[in-house]
Amino acid sequence: MAKKKRVKYIRGQGISQARLAYEIHDLKRHQNLEHYKDVLYQCGKCGTCRTVYKDAYWSPVCPSGEFGKFEPYYLGGKNLLAWALTSGKLNWTNEVAEIFYQCSVCMACIEQCQIPEIHSFAGEWLMCMREEAVKLGYGPMPEQKLYTEHTMIEKNPYMEKHEDRLKWLPSNIKQSPNAKLAYFVGCTSSYREQNVAIATAEILNALNIDFKILKDEGCCGSPVYMTGQVEKAKELAEKNINYFKEAGIEKIITSCAGCYRTWKDTYPNKFGLDHGIEVKHLPEFIRSKLKNGELNFKKELTMKITYHDPCHIGRHMGIYKAPRDVLDKIPGIELIEMTRNRHNAWCCGSGGGVRSAFKDLSAFAARERIEEAKDTTAEAIVSCCPFCLNQFKSNIENNEIQALDLSELIKKVI
Ligand code: SF4
Ligand code: SF4
Repeated sequence: MAKKKRVKYIRGQGISQARLAYEIHDLKRHQNLEHYKDVLYQCGKCGTCRTVYKDAYWSPVCPSGEFGKFEPYYLGGKNLLAWALTSGKLNWTNEVAEIFYQCSVCMACIEQCQIPEIHSFAGEWLMCMREEAVKLGYGPMPEQKLYTEHTMIEKNPYMEKHEDRLKWLPSNIKQSPNAKLAYFVGCTSSYREQNVAIATAEILNALNIDFKILKDEGCCGSPVYMTGQVEKAKELAEKNINYFKEAGIEKIITSCAGCYRTWKDTYPNKFGLDHGIEVKHLPEFIRSKLKNGELNFKKELTMKITYHDPCHIGRHMGIYKAPRDVLDKIPGIELIEMTRNRHNAWCCGSGGGVRSAFKDLSAFAARERIEEAKDTTAEAIVSCCPFCLNQFKSNIENNEIQALDLSELIKKVI
């Protein structure tokens, strides 16, 4: 008989480090609701997922719960609803579906829960509940449906024309037509935070990197996928992959956290589209150049900043160090961390379709983060995601603090 593994309690670290209990259930990521439904009952309704479990003084972590102030909006409540719906004790309604959509899928709650199955997999079933809502006709939310319809035609969720996608591109940017490396710009940098696109292209030029931008790149599909519309998001993914492969691309650099997660994780692991293209987020790429001595920052930038971890590269992909390592190498930069940082970071409130469908919740989350950034006395809140940047800029009042992308800082010192 196979020997049973034991879950260990590690003092000061709870039981999450052992990560053995889910092996008994043989749980995997990116599965359907059927796969997870038997572990939903494991939620003990302890409420630990509402606040930071350790390090950050029990600060709240859940924008949805703190805004809604009602148990269903926290993870514990969502687990109970998911259990009731999957076991036939509750019927789907528009109101129930809305609760699952009033969540930025930031995964801050999941970091806090010490039940191994929930700690590692609740993000999967939060997504599955959206998928289910779409299948049954309760999702997505009307605003999300509208931007999806536009995205399927014009390749962006911003109600812009595809033909305008490259309007940001300055004529002095050098591209190499035969390059195997592409800069995947993404929709937010193409249409809303063009400063990020310009800075990234200029950085690549300054480093003499052979790269090109493909004029017909389309939305990576993240805003469509994150709202449970898997089939449509997969269609967008296939178009991008075929187009990039036909153009001979072997490596992509992106300056967007959402595009990075989607290309690197969702395409191969959720959609089963094994594209074989290497995907790098800009700070990772810059850090590798700094490490191998191909890059040294020449100028100084005297500035006190704080860093906001975007959920899509932080909790979703585990990238916390690369942007900090890059910041550390910029002469003159003083980084002051917010109380909630890295895996405990408070979400900016723009992801998961929240910004389009639940504007008040979205603004509440952004304001909370801006106030936290101001408490550090930093002059600027720096991130490396154009969606976070755009969210901060839209919610900063009277120039109380600056919002910048890391690419903009790098461009100044390169
Ligand atoms: S999800 Fe985890 S932390 Fe939250 S109530 Fe359930 S068991 Fe407790
Ligand atoms: S994913 Fe984020 S917004 Fe959703 S329940 Fe968890 S902490 Fe709250």
